[in-house]
Amino acid sequence: MSQKQLYLSLAMPVPLPQLFDYLPPQDSSTDDLEKLCAGIRVKASFGNRALIGVLIAVKTHTDTDPDKLKHADEILDSSPCLPETLINTCRWASSYYHHPLGEVISAALPKRYRDGEPIEKTVEPVWTLTTDGKGLPFDALKRSKKQQALLQYLLKNNAASQAQCKTLEVSSATLKTMKDKGLITQHYIQPQPQPQPGSAPETILKETPKTLNDQQQLVFENIRHHQFQCSLIEGVTGSGKTEVYMQVIARTLQTGKQALVLIPEIGLTPQTLRRFHQRFNVEIAELHSRVSEVERARNWQKAREGIARIIIGTRLAALAPSSELGIIIIDEEHDTSYKQQDGFRYSARDLSIYRASQEKIPVILGSATPSLESLQNALCGRYQHLKLSQRAGQASMPAMQTLDMRNQTLQSGLTTDALTSIKQTIDSGLQALVFLNRRGYAPLLYCHVCGWNARCPSCDLNYTLHHNPRHLHCHHCDQQRAAPNHCPACQHTQLAYSGTGTEQTWEALQKLFPDVPVIRIDRDTTRGKHDMDKALEEINKGQACILVGTQMLAKGHHLKALNLVVISNTDQGLMSPDFKSIEKMGQLIIQVAGRAGRGEQPGRVLLQSYQPEHPHLQLLINYGYHAFALELLSMRKQAALPPFAHSALLRAESKREENAIELLQLAKKVARGPNHRQNITTIGPLPGFIEKVNHRYRFQLQLTCANRGNLHQCIDDILTVFSRNALSKRTRWSLDVDPAEY
Ligand code: ADP
Ligand code: ZN
Ligand code: ZN
Repeated sequence: MSQKQLYLSLAMPVPLPQLFDYLPPQDSSTDDLEKLCAGIRVKASFGNRALIGVLIAVKTHTDTDPDKLKHADEILDSSPCLPETLINTCRWASSYYHHPLGEVISAALPKRYRDGEPIEKTVEPVWTLTTDGKGLPFDALKRSKKQQALLQYLLKNNAASQAQCKTLEVSSATLKTMKDKGLITQHYIQPQPQPQPGSAPETILKETPKTLNDQQQLVFENIRHHQFQCSLIEGVTGSGKTEVYMQVIARTLQTGKQALVLIPEIGLTPQTLRRFHQRFNVEIAELHSRVSEVERARNWQKAREGIARIIIGTRLAALAPSSELGIIIIDEEHDTSYKQQDGFRYSARDLSIYRASQEKIPVILGSATPSLESLQNALCGRYQHLKLSQRAGQASMPAMQTLDMRNQTLQSGLTTDALTSIKQTIDSGLQALVFLNRRGYAPLLYCHVCGWNARCPSCDLNYTLHHNPRHLHCHHCDQQRAAPNHCPACQHTQLAYSGTGTEQTWEALQKLFPDVPVIRIDRDTTRGKHDMDKALEEINKGQACILVGTQMLAKGHHLKALNLVVISNTDQGLMSPDFKSIEKMGQLIIQVAGRAGRGEQPGRVLLQSYQPEHPHLQLLINYGYHAFALELLSMRKQAALPPFAHSALLRAESKREENAIELLQLAKKVARGPNHRQNITTIGPLPGFIEKVNHRYRFQLQLTCANRGNLHQCIDDILTVFSRNALSKRTRWSLDVDPAEY
């Protein structure tokens, strides 16, 4: 009987859209091969390189000429490195974002596993008593409290983990002493997932949860488990969303399932993480950029094995494997850091919703300022719409008011009224925050005599002037150079600057208010790992002070004594050509405002503007974010823009302007061709928002369509044309489905 030939269909980490068929490794038996399942890593040569691919299917036929197929080198895993639901999610993402499956799966693996290292079971050190130790009476070791505590613990329990030693406050020095005395010894064991299904709440929680108020209780009861359901919690800042998440998670843990919590990059504050560690008595795996590569791989593995019961992280955690996921929570769902802006341009939020549908579990989106897409999905009934309209506890919502900047004397960008309010606030012992979304000293350095201005030669954009140390910095390509003291064009020394950045406002406020600390928080002052924590600690002592900050301060932080917020440049978002920027401006204002008045005193927010009567601004201030968002939705509907249409952006960049344009024209020809012109609207090719970065010209073509399927068909056709076109190989281009920025 002839053996039937089997083929391995692999997703390879290469920028090509198709799967690749291989013959099985030379020595493998049919029986073994039939047992293989999707998700197993396979080493195989590709061109002249050995790469690590992932098995998608074992097939009985191939469309490639079997004589041309190579043998795979080695099967690396005995069980899938990613669970089936996650492989399915990757397949969906690959097709939705038109990104190669091999690269999508690669993105889900920690680097060492991407490189083919064996995935080893998690082991943890534990301490047990030696025979000598077991022979000691219960009240031995009187002279050292800590040694005695550990002895007594071990006489009652079999072993003590690292975590238990920490709880008992037994230091590594104590452990060493007891080991040297021959009383205890260390082993490595595979930890068991805790808690088991049906565990009592006391074993899961470290602290007693707050009693939910009526609104929170209603939200809590409406979140189902054991089935797919997407809910949007629209809850004002400080309404107790996090408290609801934690109680929903506790319920999920009790059923023996895991919880995945996504937080935005900027909400990644020690405070947020601390709240979860304080509440739960279970293993929590953190997956974000501040966790080292090694630690991240370890946490990934703990999530995969089910040892970690709560997985908490930023965008990159959306693809974390889990053995028995029970819920996904996406905090601040509107945040644009959920959208990857290069390479595999996925939305961690949208991908998580798909994943939840695969896992048949609930997913919660929470925000005080929901994105228009999620809000529309909730309004039309696709998502469950849950609301928290009041702040939990005592705090009330801050009052908002515009400050007219027209014809006013400004001191480093601040009006007299704003300065008076700041003075009143610190005089009554409270804190004020000046919010300014621009770091550095001034965004423009120019010559008062001849009009020369300092521009980055690579980007054709103004350099930002920084003081202390004085230099010019291009915020787009990061180039830095010394700032001249005289004009390079006419040699005059009358150099001037225009506009205001955080550094300048900070300097000015220090001079105006010498008696209180003025604390600046932006990317330049928080470079060190602990700078931000230190600043927050200082602020949360609660003494009167003035904060100057960029959007780093906009979210996630609880600033107890903060009473006044001044938004210095409200107009930035009102004038941008990107139709999404007004939505983002509204979200930012509400989020910044949400930092104020968390204490007993009601907070105040002042918005400086040159167009204080702007209808959108007025709507936001007088009727709140929801009314503002409804108005924006009705405008988007009229203009047939997302979320009432689907869109994708094709970007091209080249040192030769005409190449970028020509490539996009080619795409446009497909979209305007007979197959698509009924459905697809195109805008462009237009110069990118920043036309030139690092000597490359950027252009973009926007494709919009009422029907998602038609849009994706058109994209497929464009990509087919590109694959046959030489220009697409010489020109950098990228496709962005559901872009966060236009
Ligand atoms: P959000 O996530 O909506 O910003 P939080 O969950 O952080 O809100 O809650 C804001 C503050 O109110 C926190 O200090 C929290 O401890 C407190 N809080 C939340 N829920 C309750 C409650 N039911 N009773 C008392 N205090 C609460
Ligand atoms: Zn000059
Ligand atoms: Zn530059």
